[in-house]
Amino acid sequence: MLSIHILTLFPQMFQGPFSHSIIKRAIEKGKVKIHIHNLRDYSTDKHRRCDDRPYGGGPGMVLKPEPIFSAVEEISKGEEKERQKVILTSPGGRLFEQKIARELAQEKKLIFICGHYEGVDERVRTIVDEEISIGRYVLTGGELPAMVIVDAVVRLVPGVLGCAESKELESFSRGELLDYPQWTRPAVFRGMAVPKIITSGDHKAIEKWRKERAEERTKQLKRQGR
Ligand code: SAM
Repeated sequence: MLSIHILTLFPQMFQGPFSHSIIKRAIEKGKVKIHIHNLRDYSTDKHRRCDDRPYGGGPGMVLKPEPIFSAVEEISKGEEKERQKVILTSPGGRLFEQKIARELAQEKKLIFICGHYEGVDERVRTIVDEEISIGRYVLTGGELPAMVIVDAVVRLVPGVLGCAESKELESFSRGELLDYPQWTRPAVFRGMAVPKIITSGDHKAIEKWRKERAEERTKQLKRQGR
């Protein structure tokens, strides 16, 4: 079972995303366990403060190292560390993609550190295995990135998705190849008809057609430089 730990100053933010649909079912089926830790619980400050002003001046606040170190040490206690990864969400980290989601789905334990305000004290980086960015833009905190990464990882954990094919044929599961276009009922909607081949029942022809369309989409995307 994959055990996921999220260290955050805002645990309430995680209530919605992990209590619905596939993630909820994965938890219920015992495929993953998600623990949300309030960083304030690891603060030794009497006001449970976890941030302070940056040395050398400058705007905003920085997350202190002590609560983060204590939380990671407590969570890692007494276990082999080989299949554990400590991940810092960071705008400048390795750009998140399906390949990384696949790698992380192989681990036994993932610990996410959600930065906030101006980020984390630089010394936190000494206990981090990987810094991950969900895009080259700056968000308020690492909570949304952690949700995005966890969502993409959990659906790749064996036994989480009902039908294995959907994982094997979807976008980025075969290199850069995108998914093929899909239709459902009705066969004609506002004058737009589903391509005849798709409703033909000729599975071999459908498979070939889908492969060509997927390749076409992928090439188009590349041409647009996306
Ligand atoms: N001062 C930092 C900088 O300029 O790089 C930005 C800090 S940001 C406001 C606060 C926290 O949000 C970061 O420490 C990180 O945990 C998270 N964060 C923001 N944007 C992110 C992104 N694109 N990917 C991953 N994490 C991000």
